[in-house]
Amino acid sequence: MKPFQYIRPTRLKDAIEAVASNPNARYIAGGTNLIDLMKRGIVSPEKLVDINGLPLKKIEKKTGFLRIGALALNSEVAQHRLVLENHPLLAQALNAGASGQLRNMATVGGNILQRTRCPYFYDPVFPCNKRKPGTGCGALEGINRTHAIFGLSENDPAQSCIAVHPSDFCVALSALDATVLVVGTKGERRIAFGDFHRLPGNSPDLDANLEKDELILAVEIPDAVFTKHVHYLKIRDRASYAFALVSVAAALDLENNRIKAARLALGGVAHKPWRLFEAEKALVGQPVSETTFQKAAELAMPSAKAFAHNAYKLKLVPNAIVQALKSAAALV
Ligand code: SF4
Repeated sequence: MKPFQYIRPTRLKDAIEAVASNPNARYIAGGTNLIDLMKRGIVSPEKLVDINGLPLKKIEKKTGFLRIGALALNSEVAQHRLVLENHPLLAQALNAGASGQLRNMATVGGNILQRTRCPYFYDPVFPCNKRKPGTGCGALEGINRTHAIFGLSENDPAQSCIAVHPSDFCVALSALDATVLVVGTKGERRIAFGDFHRLPGNSPDLDANLEKDELILAVEIPDAVFTKHVHYLKIRDRASYAFALVSVAAALDLENNRIKAARLALGGVAHKPWRLFEAEKALVGQPVSETTFQKAAELAMPSAKAFAHNAYKLKLVPNAIVQALKSAAALV
């Protein structure tokens, strides 16, 4: 690891200025991903601006939404009364992620900004357009069992990337139409969750639509009816401390065994959480049944494309969607 400066400001303004004034400065909070990246030489910031002294830990109910501060720990959020009462899907997704120790260190802001766990990204021996633009993609012709099937960038070798976003929490935030509140030298702004993360396109090195000096202040989740019939299904290689091969965030609003509203998002399949708007629309007004869920799951698949080692996802995804919806509706 290269030497770096370390500061711990207690005023928001000082933290933003410290990052804005140095192109090689980075914010750090829990550090559960950034320190790994620094140890492996994937990133080498000159200065770390520790934001743990800023007052960004609050979880509070506001009119129309729940606000979760960027420095709230993943474990705190997963157990918080307001989260369990208003958005239990978030708690389920958080508890499915990482390990108990990591959830005690990792923050909400860091969870949202964590980088892909594509093994070629972490090994400088291999080409990687995300780590070093224009060098190629080791995963395209390599072992791509865990990689994306939606939203791909694969035609130009100098720009290709088929990595997946690793967060479980973000899949649930996407399904619940969250907003990210950020601040930078130009002031505050709100970004709809669906616009926050990027598909690789022709700039796979960029993960989010965030300016370098911008800092996440909070996520805001609008009040919704999805308090009862929700399920986060995560399919992975082992029961704990593993990233999703495929995950599904499912939320239903039911009345007299019919679906009044539905939300569906996938993890482990794209460079960002993958929302299934068409399938959601198809569910509305339908009776709760396995046939209804199977028809919706089929709508998710036409744009999918597999590579040498991840074709199993083409079958696993629709099956996982059906299973998550059945669990959400208690139809098991
Ligand atoms: Fe790098 Fe993306 Fe290719 Fe992985 S999939 S090697 S992150 S360019």
